[in-house]
Amino acid sequence: MTATVPEVQTEELPAVEPSSLWSFLYGNPLADSTDARRRTRDALVERDMTYVYGLSRDEYRDQVFDWLKQIGESGMGALGFPSGYGGEDDPAGAIASFETLAHGDLSLLVKVGVQFGLTGGAIHRLGTERHHATYLPKLASVELAGCFAMSEVGHGSDVRSLGTTATYDADTDEIVVHTPTKAARKEWIGNAARHGNILSCSRSCTWVARSTGCTRSSSRSGTPRAGSPRGSPSRTTARRWVSTASTTDG
Ligand SMILES: Cc1cc2nc3c(=O)[nH]c(=O)nc-3n(C[C@H](O)[C@H](O)[C@H](O)COP(=O)(O)OP(=O)(O)OC[C@H]3O[C@@H](n4cnc5c(N)ncnc54)[C@H](O)[C@@H]3O)c2cc1C
Repeated sequence: MTATVPEVQTEELPAVEPSSLWSFLYGNPLADSTDARRRTRDALVERDMTYVYGLSRDEYRDQVFDWLKQIGESGMGALGFPSGYGGEDDPAGAIASFETLAHGDLSLLVKVGVQFGLTGGAIHRLGTERHHATYLPKLASVELAGCFAMSEVGHGSDVRSLGTTATYDADTDEIVVHTPTKAARKEWIGNAARHGNILSCSRSCTWVARSTGCTRSSSRSGTPRAGSPRGSPSRTTARRWVSTASTTDG
């Protein structure tokens, strides 16, 4: 015998008036980050960011990147950045906006998280004022597309065990990024395959480098990747490094 859950008779439920639901969700200015939710929802609806069927993987990536730029234009992505650098000093609003984006396309949600939360967040929280001025406005407007290289195939999110090293060589004025073992290989880096052009990379301390100098490592497709030290163990130099902000340890 299988237990059966009694069927709910939907016709017995009271109908929900859409305008009351809207005012419940967005109409109370005193509620938590209502304005950020409303603006994000408006951006989703007005710009028609809904799943598009029948596109190839690369076409879909380009579609999502186009949406990402529109989120940049709308100002919603960078809500949590400092107001002097393209944002609105509103981290709670940024979280509410991110939550609202999850009602739409989840590929866009991940791309927004990588661009503004991970890459932008690393530069915001670990960088100096010089990095804020140089990078945050360009990340806010998506003039720069960011990647965040934390996860390693053997260490996942356990940043205390990261194997990748980044060593400054004063003689050559380079940072040498080294993947000493297969377990230290960076993986799952959003934005790296097609659009990324700046990378924040985690090792036992975190630093930020222009990805143009980090693309020499091997990749499965053979295409230069935006600063993704993956593939076989390798050494990669970042000639145009911008910071050794060694402020974190794990
Ligand atoms: C959609 C998507 C996009 C992603 N994009 C990126 C990206 O852009 N860049 C990137 O770097 N990675 C990215 N990732 C990878 C993601 O961060 C990995 O899935 C994650 O790092 C997996 O780690 P894990 O297997 O260790 O599991 P987790 O779930 O992270 O860890 C397992 C458990 O171990 C705990 N734990 C971890 N470290 C310690 C510790 N030292 N001590 C005690 N407990 C610990 C965690 O809290 C957790 O409970 C993405 C993943 C997804 C699904």
